[in-house]
Amino acid sequence: MARRKKIYEGKAKILYEGPEPGTLVQYFKDDATAFNAEKHEVIDGKGVLNNRLSEFFMTGLNNIGVPTHFIRRLNMREQLVRACEIIPLEVVVRNFAAGSMAKRLGIEEGTPLPRPIVEYYYKDDKLGDPMVTEEHIAAFGWASQQDMDDVVSLALRVNDFLSGVMMAVGIRLVDFKIEVGRVYDGDFQRLIVADEISPDSCRLWDVQTGQRLDKDVFRRDLGNLSDAYTEVARRLGVMPKNATGMTKPHLIN
Ligand code: 5GP
Repeated sequence: MARRKKIYEGKAKILYEGPEPGTLVQYFKDDATAFNAEKHEVIDGKGVLNNRLSEFFMTGLNNIGVPTHFIRRLNMREQLVRACEIIPLEVVVRNFAAGSMAKRLGIEEGTPLPRPIVEYYYKDDKLGDPMVTEEHIAAFGWASQQDMDDVVSLALRVNDFLSGVMMAVGIRLVDFKIEVGRVYDGDFQRLIVADEISPDSCRLWDVQTGQRLDKDVFRRDLGNLSDAYTEVARRLGVMPKNATGMTKPHLIN
């Protein structure tokens, strides 16, 4: 078989040229990184779990009319996605204070916020993804005002959907990050949710115990990351019902 053309390799994923024009194959690696890749480990099975979880969330979003790049899962580690022009922003939505916001503003982690707060970070590893405002985004031409209206609307719809889905399985959606891309349909452009939605890019806390079920387990050395992600997948029904306490994922087709 001919080797596929690699389009981009990031810390946790690789993008290959897709089988048809306008498509890409997104491959999920087992690598976990934090603090701008200063901390790095290979976590057996993480890519498989994130592929399935991102499929689950993106399919749900597509089904309620929130457009995403997800087309279909190809195998354990790969999914077919629509190619898009990524807006160079990490869009973060927060429901509870945690992480960098708790630190920056001196708010105790877990404090409920009066309303969801949307923040933007400029995607640049060399700069450590600095926080930016809509003023910077407009001034430097990263996105138009119309784009930003659509970005906020997408981000809040994703927040409502994810919060509800997670709460139904006893998990609090504390915050998350999405990336947004532009696609062109003839003369029209529209924005879609891109990249991935997984416990790598969300903060997920057990409602009863506050147990962390996301990448903070790795960032803060709180236990076994694969166990945490497996628990999220199991509760969402992405895993077989009897799959408790496994360290290696056994996924249903
Ligand atoms: P914080 O700004 O508190 O570090 O992160 C806020 C939320 O966005 C968290 O859910 C975190 O996982 C996610 N997030 C922020 N930056 C990144 C990033 O570069 N990669 C990933 N995967 N998630 C991020």
